[in-house]
Amino acid sequence: MIKQSVTQILSELPDGVELVAAAKTRKPEEVLEVIEAGVKIIGENYIQEAESAYAVVGNRAKWHFIGHLQRNKVKKAVKIFDMIETVDSIEIAQEIDKRCAQIGKVMPILIEINSGREKQKTGVYPENAEPLIKDISALQNTRLMGLMTMGPRFGNPEDSRPYFVETRKLFEGIKELNLPNIEMRYLSMGMTNAYKIALGEGANIVRIGSKIFGERAYERS
Ligand SMILES: *Cc1c(COP(=O)(O)O)cnc(C)c1O
Repeated sequence: MIKQSVTQILSELPDGVELVAAAKTRKPEEVLEVIEAGVKIIGENYIQEAESAYAVVGNRAKWHFIGHLQRNKVKKAVKIFDMIETVDSIEIAQEIDKRCAQIGKVMPILIEINSGREKQKTGVYPENAEPLIKDISALQNTRLMGLMTMGPRFGNPEDSRPYFVETRKLFEGIKELNLPNIEMRYLSMGMTNAYKIALGEGANIVRIGSKIFGERAYERS
């Protein structure tokens, strides 16, 4: 089941697009199974789950943090993760920078864009991305490499398109600024429901959970 869905998704992804298997609520054994099926990157939302999975899987995969990162968890996060996709404030970026400096690491980061401008959700509003990125570009131990967005959840995936389009335009606009110390390379958009739409709008990282692992028994968010 896992093997089949991974094989199918990988065979359909265009060249240059990276698949992140979103592993929230899954057991370390399931994470191992997706890696054996060919997944190279695991996405984790919770530090505790990531630590359990990392203890089993280690460096057989790359690790992307895709949840909401709290300041007091950054020290643990920088040890495990190869990329943090959800930076949305200068405070969290500075903390990542500080903790990375202490262990001699430079952390690739993405800015999370709240493309639906939903009050209850994390991420910066599109209009606030540029000033944040300028501030972050001064940090030495983080490397800004692109944008990530979730977008509002819809029954009809087509309804997600405008949010992906807006995020891509923002991505292109920031790329054209040619700011120092940043390298706009990744656009992380699209989950099980709408990843095909996201691919059509320029995503080169897709984060897929339920289509790989099956429906989640319970939702945390
Ligand atoms: C859960 C989650 C996903 C995957 O969602 P599915 O609908 O299960 O594919 C992707 N990105 C983030 C940030 C998530 O929290």
